[in-house]
Amino acid sequence: MDDRGVILTCPTCGQRNRVPYGRSAKCGHCGSALPATNEQIEVPSAAAFDALVKDSKLPVVVDFWAPWCGPCRMVAPELAKVAAANAGRYAIVKVNTEALPELGDRYGIRSIPTMAVFSGGKEVARTSGARPAAPIAEFVRQAAGR
Ligand SMILES: [Zn+2]
Repeated sequence: MDDRGVILTCPTCGQRNRVPYGRSAKCGHCGSALPATNEQIEVPSAAAFDALVKDSKLPVVVDFWAPWCGPCRMVAPELAKVAAANAGRYAIVKVNTEALPELGDRYGIRSIPTMAVFSGGKEVARTSGARPAAPIAEFVRQAAGR
């Protein structure tokens, strides 16, 4: 992932393809449909985050976390379930607030895990604290309207 899109590996031929955020795509080599970006993507930079939030056609769910945070480790597998069940409805990304403190500062993240939903380039909802997949999905559904 960078400021223009994510790199997906074709499941058929192994070709790596650049896919703009929030779109589905076909492999440039063999034409196979590429999987929706249902894996949790670790945001590598503030610039990539800004591009994602601005350009994504889908609502973006952001998990603000840090490696030392125990509850964050409990949330990760729950979020993975939500991502797998909702591929194509919204994008889920992770922001490591230790690696990218400027994003944590900018959004005033005071406790983690915090989940925020961005839609149309703006934050529309946020919630803090660990919880299971079903309440996470419900939070996103209400925030994103889907
Ligand atoms: Zn291919």
